[in-house]
Amino acid sequence: MPSAATAPAAKPAKKALPKPNGDFYQLGEILPPDELALVKQVRAFMEAEVAPVINQYWADDAFPFEVLPKFKALNLGGLGLEGYGCRGGSQKQFGFVLMELARVDPSFATFFGVHDGLAMGSIYLAGSEEQKRKWLPAMARMEKIGSFGLTEPEVGSGTAGGLTTTAKREGDLWVLNGQKKWIGNATWGDVTIIWARDVADNQVKGFIVENKTTPGFSVEKIQHKIALKVTQNGLITLKDVRVPEANRLQAGNSFRDTARVLRMTRYSVGWMSTGCQMGAYENAVAYAQTRQQFGKPIGSFQLVQDLLARMLGNLTACQCLMLRLAQMDDAGQMLDHHASLAKAFCTARMRETVAWAREIFGGNGIVVDSNVARFFADAEALYSYEGTFQMQNLIVGKAVTGLSAFV
Ligand SMILES: Cc1cc2nc3c(=O)[nH]c(=O)nc-3n(C[C@H](O)[C@H](O)[C@H](O)COP(=O)(O)OP(=O)(O)OC[C@H]3O[C@@H](n4cnc5c(N)ncnc54)[C@H](O)[C@@H]3O)c2cc1C
Repeated sequence: MPSAATAPAAKPAKKALPKPNGDFYQLGEILPPDELALVKQVRAFMEAEVAPVINQYWADDAFPFEVLPKFKALNLGGLGLEGYGCRGGSQKQFGFVLMELARVDPSFATFFGVHDGLAMGSIYLAGSEEQKRKWLPAMARMEKIGSFGLTEPEVGSGTAGGLTTTAKREGDLWVLNGQKKWIGNATWGDVTIIWARDVADNQVKGFIVENKTTPGFSVEKIQHKIALKVTQNGLITLKDVRVPEANRLQAGNSFRDTARVLRMTRYSVGWMSTGCQMGAYENAVAYAQTRQQFGKPIGSFQLVQDLLARMLGNLTACQCLMLRLAQMDDAGQMLDHHASLAKAFCTARMRETVAWAREIFGGNGIVVDSNVARFFADAEALYSYEGTFQMQNLIVGKAVTGLSAFV
């Protein structure tokens, strides 16, 4: 036996590497304990239930209905909306939850954003007291899932003045005709807010239409998408669809009211695009810590660390911007141009971040199982929906110059 003096020195314990963490500036600490607890609950749900199955659903172009019962049990319906059975809570909390959903899956975040923000939000912001009491409780319980139908096959950015779907009043009924494209959740959901132009006064009005029971309402799934494949998008055709006057959003009399909903949901997309960056970044750090080249983890190379630092800078900038916007929103100070700047900035930074994350994965980064390709592809949809980068910047440009560049 070698003596103590000649025994080989014990190998130093391998230093544990830090766990990838997309909350570098500890934003979570700003949340009150009850809000933080909910955010943690959402993270636990997404990591345990959605993360293990979502790549396959994405590859299959399918929605993970199997996780819905547990998701509904989180009781998130109506988050950020007060009363009518809604979960309520601050806009800050709403934003953090969206960020957590998108951190694991931007499609799942979109499904919830469309239901909670676009559909419930339309009724909440533009519905009468009676309409809110009638529709919101079941939607808050997620017994009825909502969609939002504004975009048309030939009219996307120009919806403010160019909607071709018509609404014609006939006594106590309205007759709707036209098509709506890209409508999230519409292939399987229950209720769609259809925005149409009243032929009498040329103003945009909103109508609550029940997908499954309304004659003349049909939906075709949009196939072959390369982004947000889990979210099911539909092409809706309305052929002499008749809805009662009671289903016309009573406080929505022009596109200004539609824009109030869009302001809220552009705020949401700011948070979701930040969450998408968190997911891509954390997965990239984990890969860089383990993937070996030249006998070392690639995370030990300077040029790889440079990419990670750039990604973290983008993501942290978006988090801080969104947190300030949340404060303004909670104080009732967020205007259209504030939400537009956030949507444009965060989605543009997201596009850079997810591309760098994919780059760190090398060839493996183009395979969906790698956990980065999905973020890379999904980012393209977030960048373009809820108003493109150009549209948001035109809204900001008008606010800062006082001059409208809209045609
Ligand atoms: C996955 C996904 C989900 C969606 N979900 C929904 C939904 O649930 N409900 C809904 O109603 N809609 C939905 N949309 C539609 C989305 O909001 C539109 O795609 C978006 O507003 C852009 O419209 P468009 O695709 O028709 O592009 P277009 O308006 O045709 O624009 C094409 C390009 O031209 C640019 N452009 C257009 N006009 C100008 C201008 N004046 N100046 C400079 N550039 C300009 C645009 O910025 C863009 O780059 C969804 C879209 C996607 C992809």
